[in-house]
Amino acid sequence: MPFRIGQGYDRHPLINNRPLTLAGVLFPQSPVGPKAHSDGDALVHALIDALLGAAALGDIGQHYSDTDPKYENANSMDLLAQTWNLLQNQNYNLVNADCTIITEQPKIAPAASKMRENLAQVLGVEPNQISVKATRGEGLGPEGRGECITAMATVLLSTGKTR
Ligand SMILES: [Zn+2]
Repeated sequence: MPFRIGQGYDRHPLINNRPLTLAGVLFPQSPVGPKAHSDGDALVHALIDALLGAAALGDIGQHYSDTDPKYENANSMDLLAQTWNLLQNQNYNLVNADCTIITEQPKIAPAASKMRENLAQVLGVEPNQISVKATRGEGLGPEGRGECITAMATVLLSTGKTR
């Protein structure tokens, strides 16, 4: 069975008085949130880029332009569903996805299992096919200084009908 791997990377500045939502989980206790045209969900944006990359279908900016008013405050989970629909139409299956969030605050780990469930639901897979990990910047670099949130994702697709 042919396999295709993809990687994604995204980063948003963190500013005061913006809601922080990652994979459908709101962090109401967070004093900061992403500066972005859409909802600024770096985790989902990295995952979308990894999926598009695995299928060699360009990148998130080509599909959902951040200058298009249509995507102002867009729900990134809807964009993920659209992206996955595009790949499914080309007979791709998701083997697994592994995601890492790098941010100084808030604490991500307690919400990781809920994020995995939410992503698995949109992608029509089991939560054990989706990994969400979090790490801190340990005071180093823009993540460590709390200036931004960064996410990375790696996905493995298989081609052909397996279901
Ligand atoms: Zn983004």
